Amino acid sequence: MPGLKVLVIEDNAANMELTCDLLEGAGYAVLRAETAEAGISAALAERPALILMDIALPGLEGLAATQRLKANPSTRPIPVVALTAHAMRGDEEHALAAGCAGYITKPIDTRTFVRDLECYLGHVVSHR
Ligand code: MN
Repeated sequence: MPGLKVLVIEDNAANMELTCDLLEGAGYAVLRAETAEAGISAALAERPALILMDIALPGLEGLAATQRLKANPSTRPIPVVALTAHAMRGDEEHALAAGCAGYITKPIDTRTFVRDLECYLGHVVSHR
């Protein structure tokens, strides 16, 4: 649903630009964080509708950060979608076990990315 806040936690500048461009193009208000620590702070302060969480981050990694968000009652309801560069066997199970609502692999498919993410917002929204 355009207008909703989406928090993108991603340390790779090119991927940050791509995901934010796609989300902003679809009308979302995008918040950016380059580390898990900054992302957790932003989640607490801004209460986004959804968090896109890179798994491989410097310092605190993405799934540990997700566990922290899910352990906090004020951020627990926010769906977290994991983003990983490596479609490793077992990653999806690890992401779900950490509390992620789902999983998107990089490189992202620019044609379906926003629609895929919207599945986790619980809305069916068409941009076609
Ligand atoms: Mn990364």
